[in-house]
Amino acid sequence: MTDVLIVGSGPTGLTLACDLALRGVSVRVLDGRPGPHRESRGKGLNPDGLEVFARLGVEERMAATGNRRLVLRKYFDGVHVSDTPADGGVLIGQWQVEEILRERLAGLGVRVEYGTRVTGLAQDPTGVTARLADGGSVRAGYAAGCDGGHSTTRELLGIPFEGYTEEKPTMVVGDVRAPGLGRDHWHQWFTSEGGGILLCPMPGTETFQLQSAPETDGDGEPLPPTLEGFQRLFDRYAGIPGIRLTEATWLSSWRVNVRRAARMREGRILLAGDAAHVHPFAGGLGMNTGIQDAAALARTLATALADPAPADALDAYEAERLPVAERLLADTSARHRRVLAAVREPGRGTEAGMG
Ligand SMILES: Cc1cc2nc3c(=O)[nH]c(=O)nc-3n(C[C@H](O)[C@H](O)[C@H](O)COP(=O)(O)OP(=O)(O)OC[C@H]3O[C@@H](n4cnc5c(N)ncnc54)[C@H](O)[C@@H]3O)c2cc1C
Repeated sequence: MTDVLIVGSGPTGLTLACDLALRGVSVRVLDGRPGPHRESRGKGLNPDGLEVFARLGVEERMAATGNRRLVLRKYFDGVHVSDTPADGGVLIGQWQVEEILRERLAGLGVRVEYGTRVTGLAQDPTGVTARLADGGSVRAGYAAGCDGGHSTTRELLGIPFEGYTEEKPTMVVGDVRAPGLGRDHWHQWFTSEGGGILLCPMPGTETFQLQSAPETDGDGEPLPPTLEGFQRLFDRYAGIPGIRLTEATWLSSWRVNVRRAARMREGRILLAGDAAHVHPFAGGLGMNTGIQDAAALARTLATALADPAPADALDAYEAERLPVAERLLADTSARHRRVLAAVREPGRGTEAGMG
């Protein structure tokens, strides 16, 4: 029987899988998507995330793939007002983080099983049985729900996801090309009327991660993201004639979600990462906290597997990580408010969410 079944192969599930495999624990990693994605999403590793990756032997590769010397270039009402270095972390696309972790995992003899969606979970005193969408099943000693904000694992366990979700999306995001736009800075255009657009050059690619408030229809309702809409937002806020955005490889909307799981464990099944907490991304803490959850969970499960009476060891995980999730929600909400206020002032911007 496999020691640990990991549901989800985002940064949290892959970190957990590498950490457990390095400890000699047998794992299977299932993911419902058909294969890897190439979306920039969470684009910053902070010193805490990098510390975990140093132990897993992938920090240098992350740093070499990403960029440690990012400069935020701010424009206010079309005028270049400041350049601010963002020190201490590594700018890198989430898909690249996942790719490096997947390769590390493959080196340890484990491959992600794509196209394998978990639809049911049952447990007894000796293990967990996961039911799969294709009718199959997997048996393991423990299971880890690393399956993101819409976690099936959390829902199957009936664990409440406490908090709130704002009714309307407040941001559109995506990956685009912008031929002619400099790639040495994270461009951030803000205006005194309150709107803005951000284009961040993603290392190792020709793309920028774009973030902006959504366009709205005649009734003030947010419109879904499109390449044409991105271009209109760019023309309105950046106003650089001749720059045409192309090849949108990722288009998404984002709304404020501030929620955490009421519990992070139910018997032999534990939650980590976005499955356990979602919050504003000001400060870039989501992926990094999932990586730290995973490190704590690997320690917990390795201890539990070696312990004939593992209840205390398992309880220690929630005792350690639930207060972290609680603080994370308050902290990132405060950072989000600081950013919203700062971008209305010339010379200030998203770095207000970083300290
Ligand atoms: C625009 C943007 C910018 C961000 N910036 C940052 C940043 O700078 N720094 C930072 O730390 N974070 C950032 N984040 C947040 C970060 O993207 C998330 O916190 C991170 O993806 C969470 O990782 P995860 O592994 O917990 O979940 P996910 O990445 O959501 O992975 C979950 C996986 O589970 C799989 N899955 C779901 N259900 C099932 C099922 N039933 N069976 C099998 N598999 C399943 C999914 O296919 C998916 O692959 C940002 C997010 C966005 C959108």
